[in-house]
Amino acid sequence: MKPRYETKKIFVGNVAVGGDAPISVQSMTYSNTHDVVATVEQINRLHFAGCDIVRVAVPAMEDALALKAIKEQISLPLVADIHFNYRLALEAAKWVDCIRFNPGNIGDKSRIKEIVKACNERKLPIRIGVNAGSLEDEFENKYGATAKGMVASAEYNIKFLEDLGFTDIKVSLKASDVDRTVEAYRMLRPKNNYPFHLGVTEAGTLFHATVKSSIGLGALLLDGIGDTMRVSITGELEEEVKVAKAIIKDSGRAKDGVNIISCPTCGRIEADLVTAVAEVERRTAHIKAPLDISVMGCVVNAIGEAKHADVAIAYGKGSGLIMVKGEVVAKLPENELVDRFIYEVEEMAKKVDI
Ligand code: SF4
Repeated sequence: MKPRYETKKIFVGNVAVGGDAPISVQSMTYSNTHDVVATVEQINRLHFAGCDIVRVAVPAMEDALALKAIKEQISLPLVADIHFNYRLALEAAKWVDCIRFNPGNIGDKSRIKEIVKACNERKLPIRIGVNAGSLEDEFENKYGATAKGMVASAEYNIKFLEDLGFTDIKVSLKASDVDRTVEAYRMLRPKNNYPFHLGVTEAGTLFHATVKSSIGLGALLLDGIGDTMRVSITGELEEEVKVAKAIIKDSGRAKDGVNIISCPTCGRIEADLVTAVAEVERRTAHIKAPLDISVMGCVVNAIGEAKHADVAIAYGKGSGLIMVKGEVVAKLPENELVDRFIYEVEEMAKKVDI
C-alpha cells in the first residue's frame, strides 16, 4: 500500500488532523443551529456513533449566537460553516474549534484579516472548502465547474491566507461526482502539504452515497491522500459515520475493529447464514481489536478461510465447527454456534494489544 502523504498536523479542538494522526470522521447536523436543544441532541447522536468532529451551518447571526450554548453542552470538536458574512465568522470564532469559510467569498480583504486575526488569537484552524457547485465567478468562467477550476479556487484561497501569514489550513475539494472529486484532490495534492478533508458532496441516498464515496474516497485513501473525511448522505446522521468508518477500515487506513469475512452463499449452503452474519456484525460492532473473523456457509471454503482468520465458524448440516487460529476448538449444534463464536471473539479481543 502507498504511504500516506506527509501533511502538516493541525488540531481541531483536541483532534489532530494530518501528519501521523488517524484519519478522522466528520459529519454535520441538519437542525436549525439556533435550535440549541435539537442541535445538541444531533451532536450527541454523532458522538455516540463514533464521529470525531462535527460541523454546523451558521447562516445567520442567531445561529452564531447559539454556538456558545451548544459548545457548553458537547465534547466533540465543533466546526462553524460560514459563507459570505464575516460577522458570523467573528462571532463563531469565539466559541468553536475551526471555521470553514472561503476567503474569496467574504470580499473585502480587511474583513478576511479580521477573521484570520480572530482565528489566530484562539489558535483555530480554517478549512477552505471548495465546492464545484459554488466556484468563484472568475474560475467558473475560465474553467467551468471542472477539477481544474476547483484546484484554481483552492490555490487562490490558500494564497489569501498564506499572504496573511496563516497556515493552519485544511482543504476540501468536493464535487457531486466521483470523477471530478478524485481528479481535483489528486491534482492539488503534490502542490502543498496541508491536510485534506475528503468528500463527495451531495452524493445521494444511503445506497448511492455509499457506492460513490467508496469508489472516490477509497481511491484517494489508497493513493495515500486524505486526513479527515465526511461521507455525505441524504439520510440519517449515524449512517454517515458508519459508512465513513468502513471506508477507512476497508481501505486499510485503520486497523481497529473486526473484519468480517462471510461467503455470498450458494446452493451448498447448510445454514441460515444471512441471519447468523447479521447477528455477528451487531454483536461485534463494539470490538476495537483488529481481528479477522470468518463466517462461512459450508466446509468447501470455510476451512481455508478459517486458517487465515482469528476466529471462524464453518457450518455443516445441522451443526458446525468453531475454529480459533485455524484449530478446531468445538463442534456444536447450529443453534449454539454464534454464541460460542462471539465468546471466542471476545476472548481473543482481550488478548490483543490495542
Ligand atoms: S462457503 Fe459454501 S455455501 Fe458459502 S459460497 Fe462457498 S460453497 Fe457456497
